[in-house]
Amino acid sequence: MMPPPPSVSEDLPVTDLPAGGRNPIGVALGLLGDEWTLLILRHALQGTRLYGEWMRELPISNAVLTGRLGRLTESGLLDRVAYQRKPERFEYRLTRRGRTAWPILLGIWSWELSWVGQHAETLPRMRHQVCGHLFSPVLVCGACDAPAGPRDLVGGFGPSGTWERSMPSATTRRRSADAHQAGFFPQTTALVGNRWSCALLGAAFQGTRRFSDFERQLSAPPVVIADRLRTFTELGVMTADYRLTAKGLAFFPVVVHTMEWAQTWFRSPEGPAMSYRHRPCGTAFHPRYACSECAVPLRAGTIDRVPA
Ligand SMILES: [Zn+2]
Ligand SMILES: [Zn+2]
Repeated sequence: MMPPPPSVSEDLPVTDLPAGGRNPIGVALGLLGDEWTLLILRHALQGTRLYGEWMRELPISNAVLTGRLGRLTESGLLDRVAYQRKPERFEYRLTRRGRTAWPILLGIWSWELSWVGQHAETLPRMRHQVCGHLFSPVLVCGACDAPAGPRDLVGGFGPSGTWERSMPSATTRRRSADAHQAGFFPQTTALVGNRWSCALLGAAFQGTRRFSDFERQLSAPPVVIADRLRTFTELGVMTADYRLTAKGLAFFPVVVHTMEWAQTWFRSPEGPAMSYRHRPCGTAFHPRYACSECAVPLRAGTIDRVPA
């Protein structure tokens, strides 16, 4: 059983970003495109609140945990609250901003379950409390409930959307070699744990197919593009001629839920970074998940973890 969801803490309003700077997607990727952060968040969503609990649950150093908790608190996903006075002790409570990241984590869990064979830890399966079945999350349109894939959406960059503004800044990238070696989300990290990878994946989902187009859109050195493309090909998310495979396309729910979360909590004054319509119903696209077995929309706290 999943423990009861932690209580929701103080709400932080939407964060207004400076004009002309990093847009919501660049900010969100800078924050979440980091394996330790994803792991800390995953445990927080399962009820972890205390520093010592994360230390026991993860093979993480004090310096890394302190740094990541500080960053998650500054960014409004966790609230640091004194729960005892003498001596003073603190716990980290998920805010609504932090809690609403659950679909991103669920998407990663599901993708690694379906497409990544070897894990350092064996991932649990998902059971839906509503219907009692093992299931996988299906991406659907929030307006019409129909399943939604990459080819069902039309749109792209909005007023604050450029490649440059959508990329995490180089200085916010921190290496997470230890987490990678621990191998919790090994292939997810290869897809999103690096600013160039994020951008390249985004370009592939927007239909970029040619080496020279990747190079031009990302303003990246050819050696970097070549290296990322080779990694994607080796992982089996891209073919040798730079098309997303079924495995690559299956990462789409993580991509759209990350964009949705980013634009729910961060705002550029010029307008959205990206906007999409769901072609079948013509409505602005907002992603949701439904249960593959009973089709009921998934809600946080209705998913049990079943040991593999
Ligand atoms: Zn729709
Ligand atoms: Zn169900």
